Amino acid sequence: MGPTIDPKAISHDLPTPEPESPFRPRKPYKFSTLCATVENPSQKDQYGSSSVPIYQTSTFKGMNGEYDYSRSGNPTRSHLEHHLAKISSAEHAFAVSSGMAALDIILRLLKPGDEVIAGDDLYGGTNRLLTYLRTHVGVTVHHVDTTNPESLRPHLHATKTAMVLLESPTNPLLKIADLALLSKEVKEKAPNAVVVVDNTMMSPYLQRPLEHGADLVYDSATKYLSGHHDLMAGVITCNRDDLAQRMGFLINSVGNALTPFDAFLLLRGTKTLAIRMDRQQSTTMIVAKYLHTLGFTVYYPGLASHPGKEIHDRIADGPGAVLSFRTGDKELSERIVGATRLWGISVSFGCVNSLISMPCAMSHASIDPATRAARGLPEDLIRLCVGIEDPSDLLDDLERALIEAGAIALAADLNSYVRANLQADALRDGAISRAVEKLAMREAPDSQEWFVSAPGKVILFGEHAVVHGVTAIAAAVNLRCYGLVKPRHDGKISVHLSDINDFHGEWDIASLPWDACTPVPRGDAHPEVLNQALVDSLQNSTLADLGADQQQAKAACATFLYIYMTLAWGEGRPSFHFAARSTLPIGAGLGSSASFSACAATTLLLLHDRISLPPLPPPTRIPETPDDPGHIHVSHQGRRGIPPATAEEINQWAFVAEKILHGNPSGVDNSVAVFGGALAYTRAGFGKPSGMEGIQGFKSLRFLLTNSKIPRDTKKLVAGVGQKKIQEPELVNKILDSIQDISNEARRALGDPELPREQLLSALAALIKENHAHLVTLGVSHPALESIRAKTGSSSYNLTTKLTGAGGGGCAVTLIPDDFQEAALQELISELVQSGFEPYLTSVGGGGLGILTPYTPNAPSTAGVDHITPPGTPNVDSPRIGGPAGAERSGRSLAPTFEALPLDDLAQWAESCGRWVFV
Ligand code: PLP
Repeated sequence: MGPTIDPKAISHDLPTPEPESPFRPRKPYKFSTLCATVENPSQKDQYGSSSVPIYQTSTFKGMNGEYDYSRSGNPTRSHLEHHLAKISSAEHAFAVSSGMAALDIILRLLKPGDEVIAGDDLYGGTNRLLTYLRTHVGVTVHHVDTTNPESLRPHLHATKTAMVLLESPTNPLLKIADLALLSKEVKEKAPNAVVVVDNTMMSPYLQRPLEHGADLVYDSATKYLSGHHDLMAGVITCNRDDLAQRMGFLINSVGNALTPFDAFLLLRGTKTLAIRMDRQQSTTMIVAKYLHTLGFTVYYPGLASHPGKEIHDRIADGPGAVLSFRTGDKELSERIVGATRLWGISVSFGCVNSLISMPCAMSHASIDPATRAARGLPEDLIRLCVGIEDPSDLLDDLERALIEAGAIALAADLNSYVRANLQADALRDGAISRAVEKLAMREAPDSQEWFVSAPGKVILFGEHAVVHGVTAIAAAVNLRCYGLVKPRHDGKISVHLSDINDFHGEWDIASLPWDACTPVPRGDAHPEVLNQALVDSLQNSTLADLGADQQQAKAACATFLYIYMTLAWGEGRPSFHFAARSTLPIGAGLGSSASFSACAATTLLLLHDRISLPPLPPPTRIPETPDDPGHIHVSHQGRRGIPPATAEEINQWAFVAEKILHGNPSGVDNSVAVFGGALAYTRAGFGKPSGMEGIQGFKSLRFLLTNSKIPRDTKKLVAGVGQKKIQEPELVNKILDSIQDISNEARRALGDPELPREQLLSALAALIKENHAHLVTLGVSHPALESIRAKTGSSSYNLTTKLTGAGGGGCAVTLIPDDFQEAALQELISELVQSGFEPYLTSVGGGGLGILTPYTPNAPSTAGVDHITPPGTPNVDSPRIGGPAGAERSGRSLAPTFEALPLDDLAQWAESCGRWVFV
């Protein structure tokens, strides 16, 4: 329990030092002076230390001392509590281990049958704890709109109402409750009810609810009071001795009082509360005005337009340093949040650093989506918690993020920015911003198709040796898996795998094994270990009727359904059809499963709204002369790729898919499928952690991939090399060392932007020869592979070839120099075909995952203004996907063509569908 303080010594007007003389009375100290001055006359330090020492002890010696056990009392904590009481207009203060711990102590005043009236825009954790009391303790909770006293009245009951729990401003909608009026009404109508206020958003500097009639006030001191996000703490303050006595008793009984070290840190933080708040608040005002001027809906009680401003100004000393605003589109908000640099994406607030968050996906994600909707919490809401950085840096960073996300665009006068849709309104004559089209499209997300693709991989160097700790070089091969999702609206989900025996599967969504599923909330990573119960249920019940001849399709469907279910959160269980096709030979060691995994993960993340594409840069209309109607420019920010954070998220889920398919994958194949290019991979163990490093910057290389069509037993081949290493360690170790040298050399050459192209190609040719010779010595080649090598290396072609992957069959890779004659190439290809092989001419090291961008066909021209044609767009008649403006308006869907097209035409057709963006 906190120190006993003489109530007379602490008046509500805060203590005033004794006057020095009757002629020069001292004025009461101002808040910032009180904050900085930690003085407790009844706890003088024996050495006069300037800062309160940390009494890091659990026990105290002796029988009749002031302290005996730190759960019950500790001098550092007493100092803190004295100080907190002083700055909160309180007679009693208690410091506990977190804001929630404070609320927990307060809610222990309740008993079964009691009724609580609480706000409908409460902090998510508060809501969670109240829900727990309702379901486990038999307490009734009425959530009402506390901005409207009328809504409280019907629930206020003279005997049943035991507590009224208020927040003002609320978090995150910044609604204002008239704390003074509500406290007065509660006292009149339900005199036994305790009025509790969560004052976290304001801190005692800006608002002291005890002055307005509250009985108990608590703060998450994790926020402004500490100010540096380096501790968790909660503070309870009150003036009523009876409540103080119960608080002290409960804290001692529960044992959640603040530790001495945290008490020290919190005391230190409070000294700068006023100065931090002043700076944070003034910058927030600037930011709020900036967003308001741009036309966003801004929630901040400092703005004249705020409906609760008048009340707030009466009960508080400032609007605070949290604001929220809406963009009108959840994906747009996500992009804005993702595009900021200085504003850290984080839950919580009150820190000296500025933070940005989306409450529905973060701090309030524990409130289920339906309840969030019922309580009017918009999914597109962005919360800004302003820190002490320079205001111009914060504004600059925010503006860049708004531009990058497509929320604002340069106005026609090129002097200022306007909201993208406002600009579009102004330019409606044909010049429709695609960012806005996207917003419109989101109104009917149910009609949206998504078309994605991901490359396979080829191991260029280091296969087999990689098992023994040598670095391997893997590169993306431009043979791809394609995935297309098309919504259906019948509570079913279906899969079509044309290239796996034309497999069709269909399931009722409700009949999937949801009981075995543990959904992973938005933003969280999938646990390292798979949910085996879900894998088993899918394999053994949902997909049980797929026989031994359908194992590939079964594995693909289990993977797809696992990810679908694990991403489903709340009510989000979309009904759709998924079709996948692969121009990669399946099971030939070219990463076909990883490219499928990447496509499945991407479509599912898009369907579940977990990732979104940045909009295409909005067009800018530049008038040539004042009278000129102008011509339309597509912004020259370049072709936007898929942002790295989105790619990371896709890759994580593609890795989960690979785990379902392979048990213990290295992660190389999915990384190549997502990021493209090439990467150097070294396995963990052998005294090193596992490492994967992208090799960027080389132009893709032409390769001929030849499938020997000889099936292999990879495990046997790997075991064979292991055996050889045991029998002939000297020979094998020497080979491993030189393969490491080959990989190092290849990595260096590929990653060297200065190396002339011819030198790169001849270096690679030499390394290919050398690496293959080592693989032959290791015994993993095959007569079919040697025959491919002999053909390609014959004097008529003079090309270098090596086996790739496990060997023993599978594929061979042949480097094709840039100047190789086309006729000779065609001849070689037909020779290989004649010998029963399957050659694919492809490039290696190119783009990773791709998504066809949904956009609309050109808007009809009016007023003589040009249409906007996104760069790389084929003619307007080509089929394309999109929302109502795309697929629906034109009545076209890509799915039928996609599923029926001959495999040979697939890649070219996909490319012609519109504008793809890549990682
Ligand atoms: N009250 C409000 C308004 C909050 O924002 C928070 C935390 O974000 C809490 C209470 C809970 O505080 P703590 O996280 O310190 O337990």
